[in-house]
Amino acid sequence: MSDFAKFNLLSPIETALTEAGYFVPTPIQEQTIPTLMTGRDLLGIAQTGTGKTAAFALPILDRLGRHRDRTGQTTQRHRGVSPRNTRVLVLTPTRELASQIDASFAKYGRHLRMARAVIYGGVGQQPQVRAMERGVDILVATPGRLLDLIQQRHVFLDKLEIFVLDEADRMLDMGFIHDIRRLIALLPDARQTLLFSATMPKDIALLAEGLLRDPLRVEVAPPASTVERVEQKVLFVDKANKRHLLHTILSQEAVRRALVFTRTKHGADKVTSDLASRNIQAVAIHGNKSQGAREKALSDFRAGQVRVLVATDIAARGIDVAGITHVINYDLPNEPESYVHRIGRTARADADGTAISFCDADERPFLRDIEKLTRQEVAVDLDHHYHSDVAANALGSAKKPNGQTPPRRTGGGGGAPPKQGRTTTRRFHAPATARPARSRGSLDR
Ligand code: AMP
Repeated sequence: MSDFAKFNLLSPIETALTEAGYFVPTPIQEQTIPTLMTGRDLLGIAQTGTGKTAAFALPILDRLGRHRDRTGQTTQRHRGVSPRNTRVLVLTPTRELASQIDASFAKYGRHLRMARAVIYGGVGQQPQVRAMERGVDILVATPGRLLDLIQQRHVFLDKLEIFVLDEADRMLDMGFIHDIRRLIALLPDARQTLLFSATMPKDIALLAEGLLRDPLRVEVAPPASTVERVEQKVLFVDKANKRHLLHTILSQEAVRRALVFTRTKHGADKVTSDLASRNIQAVAIHGNKSQGAREKALSDFRAGQVRVLVATDIAARGIDVAGITHVINYDLPNEPESYVHRIGRTARADADGTAISFCDADERPFLRDIEKLTRQEVAVDLDHHYHSDVAANALGSAKKPNGQTPPRRTGGGGGAPPKQGRTTTRRFHAPATARPARSRGSLDR
């Protein structure tokens, strides 16, 4: 049975979730869905990649499905929605996000027959106007074009039941705050409101205060203390040598329980079978595995029967295994937030942990983004057989300690033995302007 069953969502939604391969709710879904189903407001401090879209889309679909409209009226075709009106409005900063969110509603609501529309700028307005003519259940929009269409009286918000403000801090960065305030002034008082933001700068806190009534506050970023306790290193390596490097690391005794992250499901399978061929037992979990296979893999890993679990970001969500000594980023994530989530898997409770990241030439921009987000430089470990100068120098200049000469390895690369007497890890200090990493929730970008 899927872990979503406990929420008692409408059965067409449960069916859609099973079809989408969702079996275990992510932490934010776990914490928000039951409360949102009761109609309470929410302040969600979470970024993309945490499963936040489903965290709001599922309870919204459930409420829409249960209460066809506020007055209880329904018609055969439009279920009581009013012309040019919408029951739900999700405001989001970019057209890409708007399309993605709409696609999520389509996916989870595919057995519910909800009328939807998406409104954003940069394209002709006529199809959007037509989509709104008869009214919709769910409208996902960016602020500027939505205001335009409201001013032209193509869209009204007076029948709105649920308002979601997504990525509020990004909206602020993009200069949408005035548009948002104007839109908020048009909303009916009796409504449910959800606000999501990756960070909580003062302006957003103020906005939230005026907008939300007795909200549930949920924060899903791992606390800074966790991240600070993790010893982090990066190893520059050519793509082709990653598997050799992984084998070397996993052969060390200190690696008692390791979680290895790959970017793709296929990658996870390849790593697992490569390790098996070298007599290191590992199990993989990812979206293509049956729930039974995932549960078995997890329980073997938990019980210590298997030392290595290979996972994709999504599959690893919601799993909480104690005693992970090492998180290994076989591939660096392209979303820097995922890095923070990944390394938070180790150093749980009072334990310290180590996060080892492999970085090839193509992944250098990802490393740069991670260091920008965490405001920390990751220490470079040169002491391994597979150090790649190409990867180290891929951005045109090597990572180097405070403007000094880049670290060089003589005789390095493909399988050459390491030079004796080399320092194991060089910790390069962050530039004086950099601040120490803090919880994303408190970053004031
Ligand atoms: P989001 O943070 O909403 O952008 O979601 C990130 C990704 O996780 C999306 O591709 C979702 O389809 C996926 N996802 C969300 N919740 C789950 C879940 N419970 N199980 C598996 N995948 C999920």
